[in-house]
Amino acid sequence: MHSSKSLSILVVGAGHCGGRTVQALRELGWQGGIDLVGEEPGLPYERPPLSKEVLSGTKIPEALDLMGQDAWQALDLRRHHARVTAVDTQAQSATLSDGSILHYSSLLFANGGSPRRLDIPGADLPGVLALRTRADAARLAPQLAPGKRLAIIGGGFIGLEVAASARKLGCAVSLVEGGPQLMGRAVPKLLAERALALHIVRGVDMHLGVSPLRITQGEAGLEVELSSGVTLQADAVLIGIGIQAGTDVAQAAGIAVARGILVDRRLRTNVPNVYAAGDVAEFPSHLSGALLRQETWQNAESQARVAAQNLMGGSVEFAASSWFWSDQYDYQLQVSGEPAAASQTIVREQEDGDVLVFYADGVNKLVGACGWGLTSRIAKDLKLARTLVERGVIATAAVLADPATKLKSLLR
Ligand code: ADP
Repeated sequence: MHSSKSLSILVVGAGHCGGRTVQALRELGWQGGIDLVGEEPGLPYERPPLSKEVLSGTKIPEALDLMGQDAWQALDLRRHHARVTAVDTQAQSATLSDGSILHYSSLLFANGGSPRRLDIPGADLPGVLALRTRADAARLAPQLAPGKRLAIIGGGFIGLEVAASARKLGCAVSLVEGGPQLMGRAVPKLLAERALALHIVRGVDMHLGVSPLRITQGEAGLEVELSSGVTLQADAVLIGIGIQAGTDVAQAAGIAVARGILVDRRLRTNVPNVYAAGDVAEFPSHLSGALLRQETWQNAESQARVAAQNLMGGSVEFAASSWFWSDQYDYQLQVSGEPAAASQTIVREQEDGDVLVFYADGVNKLVGACGWGLTSRIAKDLKLARTLVERGVIATAAVLADPATKLKSLLR
């Protein structure tokens, strides 16, 4: 490993993954310089609570910081509140939006992405919002009050978590999902249907298989015209239709990109000394080899550690099993492993509509699991299911499907 003080690591993006990377660099003993570049004010922070605790007012935005001020100062890095506008991979330098030029010995793209924009008339009206940053949450929060009406476009994780937060706060909520089911990108239909039923019971006005056509400013607020002929009335509109990975700068620098910045198992791009990690990275699954891009808390955490080691000259492969959760009301959903890599799907019905779904390969080895249920009832089983997947436990469908089987007994 190099350790010369003249060497400097440049981390593009000061979000969760970038923040954890610089922290890991110092923990691992990096003594060279560190430049951390990102426009957002404040310390790097984790985003999951934005759509829940921050909107409901049970956490202040600063509580999301990845570390305290003292730990932050001790990292002794150069923090640039700017954007990287260009990278010269030959000269090993980057140009910032403030005009400065930084040289690097190795560089990490951890710049995540930005909310996909809805391409319909009126999507840029005031009151049409997105949720990705603390600033976005601060704009949305005042709209979630009793008597206010919120229209949500997109029935993915952001849309549904905000819907639950808004209902808890007494706000009237309607939600428009273009696809035939909720959370279609990552969740099986069985679970999506239970989530849908819960949102309806909790008072969300659901519109599935419907597209928004235009948004206009009416006399009594915003009006969202739908393909079904219905027009929704709202005081604010939240767009939650996914993230566009920030690939522009990398692509302009000649780095290979697809849905994200393409990397190998060591998180290396096709260009020497340039890496990518977190939401922006498209990497090969250690299980199936399939190219994945994951916008999850756990991916940011675990890729940051691998990236830090490799930025310092290491040669570590990323092989963490993937995992994410979504909290909606007093219910939780989790997905772990790689359901798409399975050849068998096993459903396990538990009490009162709680459900686990296991995914196994041809030799009964677990490759994935997901579940949905009342958090207080299912949390333990969700955790056990995740551990079974991480360990690649072998179990037959009959055993897994039987709610009388104690999941803990399968760990032995
Ligand atoms: P996010 O992280 O923003 O929630 P997801 O990918 O989890 O992103 O979910 C986005 C959801 O938005 C998907 O269910 C997708 O079908 C839906 N969607 C995408 N475009 C539109 C659109 N134009 N109108 C309505 N729903 C849309």
